[in-house]
Amino acid sequence: MDGDGDMDPGRDDLPLRANTNHILVRHYVLDLDINLQTKVITGTVVLFLEPGPLAGDGNGAGEGAPTPPQPSQSDDSWGDESHRDFTLVLDCCDLTVSKVEELDVTSVSDMQGLLKEVKGEGSGVGPQPDSQSAVLIQRLISLPSTQWKKQHHLYFQCSHAPASEGGGPLISHTDRWSLQVRKRGVRTIQEFPRALRVCYKTKPEGGSVRWTKDQDNRSCVYTAGSPINNRALFPCQEPPVAMSTWQAQVRAPRECVVLLSGENQAQPTHLHHTGLSSWDYYVTMPMPASTFTLAVGYWRQATAQLSTAQLTPPVQGTRAGASHTHAGSLDLNPFTNMDRPIITCPQSALVYSGLKDEKHSESDCSGLADDDFTCCHADYPCPFTDPSAWSQEVVPHRMFAPPSLLQKAQVQVLPLLPGCLAAAHATLGVHPFPRLDVLIVPASFSSLGMASPHIIFLSQSVLCGDREGDGEGVGERGLSLCGSRLCHELSHSWFGLAIGARDWTEEWISEGFATYLEDIIWARAQQLSSKETEEQSQLKALLRWRRLSDELQNSEEQLQILRPNMESTGQVSESGSSLVKHALNPEKTFMQVHYLKGYFLLRFLASKVGLEYFLHFFRLFIKKYHGQLILSQDFLQMLLETFPDMERQGLTLEAIYADWLDRPGVPKWLCEGSVVWTQTRLVEDVKAEVMPEQLVLLLEILLEEAELSVTSLHTIKRTYDLPKQDAEVRHRWCELVIKHKYAQAYGDVEHFLIHDQAMGVYLYGELMIQEDSRQQALARRCLSLVQNEMDKSARRVVEEMVL
Ligand SMILES: [Zn+2]
Repeated sequence: MDGDGDMDPGRDDLPLRANTNHILVRHYVLDLDINLQTKVITGTVVLFLEPGPLAGDGNGAGEGAPTPPQPSQSDDSWGDESHRDFTLVLDCCDLTVSKVEELDVTSVSDMQGLLKEVKGEGSGVGPQPDSQSAVLIQRLISLPSTQWKKQHHLYFQCSHAPASEGGGPLISHTDRWSLQVRKRGVRTIQEFPRALRVCYKTKPEGGSVRWTKDQDNRSCVYTAGSPINNRALFPCQEPPVAMSTWQAQVRAPRECVVLLSGENQAQPTHLHHTGLSSWDYYVTMPMPASTFTLAVGYWRQATAQLSTAQLTPPVQGTRAGASHTHAGSLDLNPFTNMDRPIITCPQSALVYSGLKDEKHSESDCSGLADDDFTCCHADYPCPFTDPSAWSQEVVPHRMFAPPSLLQKAQVQVLPLLPGCLAAAHATLGVHPFPRLDVLIVPASFSSLGMASPHIIFLSQSVLCGDREGDGEGVGERGLSLCGSRLCHELSHSWFGLAIGARDWTEEWISEGFATYLEDIIWARAQQLSSKETEEQSQLKALLRWRRLSDELQNSEEQLQILRPNMESTGQVSESGSSLVKHALNPEKTFMQVHYLKGYFLLRFLASKVGLEYFLHFFRLFIKKYHGQLILSQDFLQMLLETFPDMERQGLTLEAIYADWLDRPGVPKWLCEGSVVWTQTRLVEDVKAEVMPEQLVLLLEILLEEAELSVTSLHTIKRTYDLPKQDAEVRHRWCELVIKHKYAQAYGDVEHFLIHDQAMGVYLYGELMIQEDSRQQALARRCLSLVQNEMDKSARRVVEEMVL
């Protein structure tokens, strides 16, 4: 069956074309040159291949009569339906492929050693290949994880091997969504080359590589976290089941920093007489190619050593500086007081142990690392089996930002990292990734944050402080947006990355979990008491409930469903290809339903078993499923098996699907539960001295007023010093300004639309809807200022509204 060529995706559906059931990429070696002037990446990617699960003994090809071999590489015969040669399909778009060649790995002298090794490697699928080259690659791919260094060395050597001389040329063909490769006369997967080199160039307009300017107006480039993932960066197998390792050598101007999802903290090697530096990264844990991330720019590393000036006491209140920690958050400082156990309150649903309560974490670990514990994933050097990884609360981390934001990053984000990492470790267990880089991305980045293996992108909108200042003296309240976002992205190391969704339509598996866990981890990082934690959690629940109900009233029903493919979730075609429903719908990009409904589902489940047990279950689940891909039922089934009482109360898998995952609208429990959150103390005293979340709520309540006087608006702005508040608060303020046509504060709206693009899209709509010429002019002016650097889907949505 070869119907994939006919696949005609709807406008909003994203095709995954790679035939991963036939053949799998097990390792990528990338060799890339970054040119910030021409906005082009030139390079090669070498693929190491293995027959896939449905390779059988060989016939993955089309039908019809054989085509006689042709002497030269050409696409002319590609459309010929009679072609029976096996086709390797790789996902890509916006790439110019100049050459695809088979590599002669037998010429790599170090590879010959593999021939001498005893037979018995396990992971080969199907019969043993007969060409020596294929045998060598199969043995290389099958080397045990204990020999990963040797393996990576050999991958690298092979990636530089000359093209194979004999056996006929490869022909390739590119269409909108894929690169297809055949070898003349090769009908079976078994005979297909195992090591290929693709020489290619990216295009400046490529949809997943963003060329833009940083906050200091210097050129930079980064992978944008777009729905098409890395297809405009390198040809790869997109379906998540194609988990692979990679290594990459990237050359860029010497003053640039190259960040990449690699497990090593790479340092640059200066290349003489070129003005360039080279950076080498690798991973040993197989992951979907979609998680690969790259960022190159004139960024600087923030260091923990603060100058004397930075250590002077902050302006606000009684807070004093402390060595290598930021003074501004001393009251709740997660770092100076790490030994202080958090007060536990057995009556509360929230019972936490101290971050540094060694005994407790040891017993946690022993529970998780018990004798029968063996990893269920493919063989790789896994931190879960390494006792020293279990005891490492804080993994090595670096912080990067453009020079103009470096001090804010240093003062606000860097000091939060150890506490958030330790809190995540205390909540979820061993860190799946042994190190972390955090980067403040350009203003045009379309979300507040993005997590990839070993690297987190943060929007400048999570930083706070006055517009020009460094944010020195920002209190712990001002750090709330930054801290909770950081905890959200850290949660993705477990849910989203170490455990991924097998079907991308089940986005709630990463976003619902991260939204749920960000509160828990951030409360822990702040060392809140259980009472404070509970209060904050209720307030967040109320705000999210308001957002969700608003969104559900104003969106298409089909986009409100967490499991749009229902019973066929996770199913793919015979070749392994599939379509991701609605993935390219720009409206969906800005919807929060997967975050919010997913969060409430987890809240609901926690209410059934108790938070402490629920989190313990998370750790058990992670222990079983890390390094693998899951569907909703894997999580729900194991939960129901672990807590059989739930089913006795009528809570079955089918009931959860029916109420939460497979239908639009609001689940019953949520309608009833939302009443409780409006009655908590923090909501009641929202008009007194307030936290950012309370301020958000206050402004939202004010938004419901039909009229507000100019004096009231002026007083609100002054009383709460709104332009200095975090982006969530300022967003509500801008809504208020627009609604009441408060022209004196139009500057605040303009500032938001330019500097907080991650959150600004909605405001354009508000500006246009009022049909006020001054507001519409404001919208057009702001759009014209940022249009060129804007994220593509955001731009499409805004242009539709404004133009
Ligand atoms: Zn493992």
